[in-house]
Amino acid sequence: MHIVVLTGGIGGARFLRGVRAYAREVGAEVTAVVNVGDDLLLHGLKVCPDLDSVMYTLGGGADPERGWGRVGETWTVKAELAAYGAEPTWFGLGDKDIATHLVRTTMLNGGYPLSAVTEALATRWEPGVRMLPATDDRLETHVVVDGEQGQRAIHFQEWWVRYRADIPTHRFVFVGAETAKPAPGVLEAIGSADVVLIAPSNPVVSIAPVLAVPGLRQAVADGPAPVVGVSPIIGGAPVRGMADRCLDVLGVECSAAGVGRLYGGRRAGGLLDGWLVAPEDEGVAVPEVTVRSAPLLMTDETATAAMVRAALELV
Ligand code: GDP
Ligand code: CA
Repeated sequence: MHIVVLTGGIGGARFLRGVRAYAREVGAEVTAVVNVGDDLLLHGLKVCPDLDSVMYTLGGGADPERGWGRVGETWTVKAELAAYGAEPTWFGLGDKDIATHLVRTTMLNGGYPLSAVTEALATRWEPGVRMLPATDDRLETHVVVDGEQGQRAIHFQEWWVRYRADIPTHRFVFVGAETAKPAPGVLEAIGSADVVLIAPSNPVVSIAPVLAVPGLRQAVADGPAPVVGVSPIIGGAPVRGMADRCLDVLGVECSAAGVGRLYGGRRAGGLLDGWLVAPEDEGVAVPEVTVRSAPLLMTDETATAAMVRAALELV
């Protein structure tokens, strides 16, 4: 059995721990197709927040409280950069984390594609799932906001981290998406999957940029494998983070039904065969989609593996 998971960072990484636990039980293979829209260059270093969240979480090196970055992190370099007044000061890189970005940047500068770099980094962390960036090409989520002279576009990270998604916002643009190609292995993984799971990741800025890679959305929608999504929204609110702000920008209701309809039913031109919602949201309807409820709080690996089982039982 081959399980493919479309995923963002923290929420997706936690979900993947449950997928891995389930897969170990039944002897399945797991491929994670990870968002790269959050990636950015900082102080000359290539930073891939979602790939790193997945890698550190599955590799046992993530900070469980913060959710992102390394456990036992120190911040000497950050303080030194601040002493120079080096911008941007709103994005903190930890000392341990910087080693990852140094290795990654060196390899990229040496001509290796991101997918090969990711595989190389994973030999240390042994995440137990195959991690593939959605694309090796540049694909960056930018956000069109109100500026002093009309509208301007800023990088997603500036919108999210610096402004806490709390400025007048018009839309999201996936810069580079038109010409991006799926990373090697992505279409093959989707084509050979027995099931495709959409993690309870942010639908607007984690899953949408993955699907924006030309050919990827179609491979999922037209593929042989059933597709099941897991709701990141419980009882009308995101479990963590600011997905409500992102959905607002799209004019989509922040609810399990709203996100389910945003993905849409496969038989109605969308993506989903199944949609797993929380017990609080039991009874929501998404046209042409089988909706079931199960506890969706990823409190620990066992609870999350049970979620995965419920998702797979849907199809
Ligand atoms: P990011 O890239 O680090 O922002 O992480 P993701 O996009 O992968 O995940 C963020 C989403 O995970 C948020 O919209 C949360 O609502 C969702 N999330 C976080 N924890 C849980 C949980 O325990 N259960 C569910 N259902 N969703 C969760
Ligand atoms: Ca992210």
